[in-house]
Amino acid sequence: GMVPMTLQEIAEAVHGRLVDGDGPHADLGQGSGDGSPHIRAEATNVVSDSRQLREGSVFVAIAGERVDGHDFVPGIAASGAVAAIVEHVVEGSSVAQIVVENSVRALGLLARHNLDKRREMDLPLTIIGITGSVGKTTTKDLLSSLLRRLGSTIAPVGSFNNEIGLPLTALEVNASTRFLVAEMGASHIGEITYLTNIAPPDISIALKVGVAHLGEFGSVENIAKAKSEIVQGLLPGGVAVLNANDPRVAQMRRFAPGRVLWFGEQAGSGVDVFNEGQAFDMTAQDIRVDGLDHPSFTMSDGAEHVPVTLGISGEHNVMNALAAAAVAHHLGLPLDDIAAVLADQRRISPHRMAVSTVERNGIAFTLIDDSFNANPDSMRAGLRGLSAWGSSGEDKPFRVAVLGAMLELGADELALHRQIGEQCADLSLDAVVAVGGNEALAPLAQALADGAKDEASRRGVTGSTQDFKVLLAQDAKQADDMISSLGQEHRNMVVLLKGSHVSGLSALAEQWEKRE
Ligand code: ATP
Ligand code: MG
Repeated sequence: GMVPMTLQEIAEAVHGRLVDGDGPHADLGQGSGDGSPHIRAEATNVVSDSRQLREGSVFVAIAGERVDGHDFVPGIAASGAVAAIVEHVVEGSSVAQIVVENSVRALGLLARHNLDKRREMDLPLTIIGITGSVGKTTTKDLLSSLLRRLGSTIAPVGSFNNEIGLPLTALEVNASTRFLVAEMGASHIGEITYLTNIAPPDISIALKVGVAHLGEFGSVENIAKAKSEIVQGLLPGGVAVLNANDPRVAQMRRFAPGRVLWFGEQAGSGVDVFNEGQAFDMTAQDIRVDGLDHPSFTMSDGAEHVPVTLGISGEHNVMNALAAAAVAHHLGLPLDDIAAVLADQRRISPHRMAVSTVERNGIAFTLIDDSFNANPDSMRAGLRGLSAWGSSGEDKPFRVAVLGAMLELGADELALHRQIGEQCADLSLDAVVAVGGNEALAPLAQALADGAKDEASRRGVTGSTQDFKVLLAQDAKQADDMISSLGQEHRNMVVLLKGSHVSGLSALAEQWEKRE
């Protein structure tokens, strides 16, 4: 929970009007803190989901698309709640209400107030903000494991990175918190600034500027501009942690108010952001992946070198690990400890390159579950991971990519799906299953399948010499059947599941993992 607050204080922080609970709704105004017992209560935590209500809760009623939080207000007293933040007074509530114009904004203001209060204490608190088109949650999970070695760390569960998730996370910060790791996502210009105003970072990480949400942003330049807001939002003297291998990220150095920490692969992509020969602060050399797609590399801060093997799979995660390592090392964690924590961490938030053995209709195969979400960058990374699978072993597995559509790509969406299909053929995978799901997704799946077929015949990989199967599934259910029959023919099979949430592949992964 947060730093404890009185209801008067909360009302002031959110520019709200405090109304007593029960009976006639006496408007007590501000400054009458010794009113009814309801008004004198102390708040210790904030929730927006009524199922999470507990003793001392302030319930923020948010009107969502499907449910309106205001409907729950009359029942919250039973769970120990002390107040509700509402956009209009709700009849029949025995707890006090704080009436505001916009409860999401109020939530942000309250989170900021909590952090300000915490900063006034004579105890250190470091806030780390993370943004990027891909890798935020992974980096957040790795960094919070590292920082827990140094002190009490608050980090969101899952991918809580928006105007509601971020303030709710910041409202978990109290006197005993040493670090807050905040994921900051955006699909529009100005959204990250909104988040950094709530939780102004001491340290900001920019991972990668890709094409996620390209449709909404209009251009990659706009995406870069939006991501740079995390550097512009740094506290005075704050530290920018930048990916030296991504030129669009490297350019953000000009907004840095103080020190820049560079992370990246030393030989890298040939990007020379250091024309003055500046050193990397955290680098990886000799990156290799083993047959299970776990990367190993030599990590260095320029002075010391340590061998690292990541507990999680996927070569792309080296960048995320370096970013997390750069911050943890800057905050005092020795390289050896960092290597040990990175090796220990085998699981990150669910559906991200999670490897397991599953069984379907009596056939066992390896599942790489990366079904959390998909955009062109993460698709490519997932496919590279799949193609590296078993490359060092004797018995080469049959590698199948089951791919759902990618959303929010704007006018280029068909071409971007075609390109992913082409990449499947280029990587010499053994089969691709393009999955639709509904009428809007079907043409995207079709484009992906067409890309795969055309590229395969262009390269001559279909037919006699090497069999490359391209299948089109109407939905996840049909994909499931196709995988079952492929499994009949190929005893040693590896399946990558990847697609936007709506394609239903994460549900399929859950079904398989439960061995239904
Ligand atoms: P979201 O915006 O949905 O919250 P995120 O930025 O938090 O996404 P993650 O959840 O860490 O990102 O990863 C999402 C997907 O991107 C996963 O499939 C992951 O394997 C892949 N991914 C992570 N980092 C990279 C990277 N550096 N390059 C390419 N793909 C990546
Ligand atoms: Mg995320």
